[in-house]
Amino acid sequence: MKYDDNNIFAKILRGEIPCKKIYEDKYVLSFHDVNPQKKVHALVIPKGKYANLDDFNQNASDEEIVGLIKGITTVAKKLNISVENGDGYRTLANIAENGGQEVPHLHFHLFGGEKIGKMVS
Ligand code: AMP
Repeated sequence: MKYDDNNIFAKILRGEIPCKKIYEDKYVLSFHDVNPQKKVHALVIPKGKYANLDDFNQNASDEEIVGLIKGITTVAKKLNISVENGDGYRTLANIAENGGQEVPHLHFHLFGGEKIGKMVS
């Protein structure tokens, strides 16, 4: 699958549109979801151009993969929703059409700050 450079998260990464930034390092950018579904709703995205999780796992370096997975916990800690520093959260990635993915740049959602409820509705 060819990566679409015009997707909204690519524009955020290039600084062309603003975001409510939570955290940034060499591998990830994290910001609040513009349309929060729970009290806390954050997104964590890799800095590299990967359309979805399968693309990422097939094409990213091990360093990038570790950076993204560790970034999720770093962000959860910052938001006080982690196991160590809060009451837990849910993370999920929608993947392609049947997964309901709308933005074609890999992203993990983090939901927390309250009970998240049913896993799939
Ligand atoms: P998905 O359905 O997994 O692709 O989710 C895309 C998410 O991106 C949705 O929860 C949107 O609310 C969120 N979103 C779309 N545009 C923006 C934006 N400019 N800033 C922050 N979140 C956004």
